[in-house]
Amino acid sequence: MEEFDVIVVGAGPAGLRASANLAKAGLKTICFDKNQEIGIPKRCGEGLGMGWFERLDLKPDPKWAVQEIRGIVLYAPSEKKIDLDFNKINGYVLERRVFEKELAKVASKNGAIIKTKADVFELKRADGKVEVKVNEGGDIQEYSSKLIFACDGVETLTARRLGVNTTMNMADYDAGYQYEMTGIDFKPVNMLHFFFGSDVAPRGYVWIFPKGKNHANVGIGIASLQEGSAKEYLDKFIASHPNLSKGSIIEVNCGCIPVGGFLDELAADNLLIAGDAAHQVNPIHGGGIGIAMEGADFASEVAIDSFKKNDFSGKFLNQYTKNWYKLRGNKLKAILTKRHMFENLTDSDFEILTEAVTGEDVLTLSHSDMIGAAKVVTKKLVKYPKLAKLMLKYLK
Ligand SMILES: Cc1cc2nc3c(=O)[nH]c(=O)nc-3n(C[C@H](O)[C@H](O)[C@H](O)COP(=O)(O)OP(=O)(O)OC[C@H]3O[C@@H](n4cnc5c(N)ncnc54)[C@H](O)[C@@H]3O)c2cc1C
Repeated sequence: MEEFDVIVVGAGPAGLRASANLAKAGLKTICFDKNQEIGIPKRCGEGLGMGWFERLDLKPDPKWAVQEIRGIVLYAPSEKKIDLDFNKINGYVLERRVFEKELAKVASKNGAIIKTKADVFELKRADGKVEVKVNEGGDIQEYSSKLIFACDGVETLTARRLGVNTTMNMADYDAGYQYEMTGIDFKPVNMLHFFFGSDVAPRGYVWIFPKGKNHANVGIGIASLQEGSAKEYLDKFIASHPNLSKGSIIEVNCGCIPVGGFLDELAADNLLIAGDAAHQVNPIHGGGIGIAMEGADFASEVAIDSFKKNDFSGKFLNQYTKNWYKLRGNKLKAILTKRHMFENLTDSDFEILTEAVTGEDVLTLSHSDMIGAAKVVTKKLVKYPKLAKLMLKYLK
């Protein structure tokens, strides 16, 4: 049984970032992924906001940051729209398979070992450590470590195998389905496009995330307990848009997004949980790449400390929970409330909003405090008291 300081389960953004951090701190680290290739299947619209580049100290590299984005366009069911142009680069659409391989290179350069086609299928605590069995392309190998990082995404079993229940109600997952399409027409190419409406995407939206001219990820996220599948809604949307239906589908991606809230405790004895496994995603738009990597940073910091103090207890490791909620989790909880407001908007509310509110108003709304936002809502929606009341209720 080979011994490591830390075993990381899952080589997505969370696991690779954690592996890089831990190895850099001198910890003997190994990271397993059950898939045969890093970054595949991508299960992602590949959008990443500029704030994450800054927070995570990432430099956009044209190898994987393939499309500059300067704003977003929101479409009501009638396709009346609101343009939010930030007038500067506000994010990128990535080539995620390249991005993740670059993250793997950094982790490896720092000294971590990464293994693909390596399915971690059994974990059990013994003598203050965790013993792990891994199916490596048919060979069963055994490892042990004092610390396990569960970075195994939305389908996580690692934490559950160590006694932590990470499941949520089915209603708290969104179902995502996406085509990477080429030979399509849409403008502008440097904006992310979001389409709303109960017939378009119940409790969700259709997105077009451009990857150059005539090429984009065209996807949908809807409530998972909806009648009709995400694929059916997406196919219907594409069929009703000749600018899209004339194109070709060169990749199909699907996956689940945990949008209903976060784990109360992100750690237990010998265990830290980060990324989708801990439901660390933005509950409004489902974006999780940046949040997963940041979660891994918070967890790594406490892990490195746990080796200094030789304390791998849940009590010690839950310092990570405290740090994460203080700096990120509580903000995301507030966003969860806004999600509930969006869920209560009707098609006609969306139409009113595109009529009454400008892109600038939306920016003011998202950047102001409660009083500033309430002023915008009251002024702009004075003719629509029902909608104004609903928005004010959630702003409170
Ligand atoms: C349709 C869709 C569109 C999305 N679009 C965006 C977007 O545009 N922008 C954005 O920021 N986010 C987006 N997301 C969310 C984003 O993809 C995730 O939040 C992000 O990938 C989470 O990273 P992670 O490292 O936690 O998990 P993952 O990326 O899921 O990585 C987990 C890894 O663990 C591995 N694994 C699982 N079990 C085991 C095991 N037993 N043994 C070994 N390995 C294992 C898996 O193979 C996987 O590689 C989208 C999600 C979906 C489904």
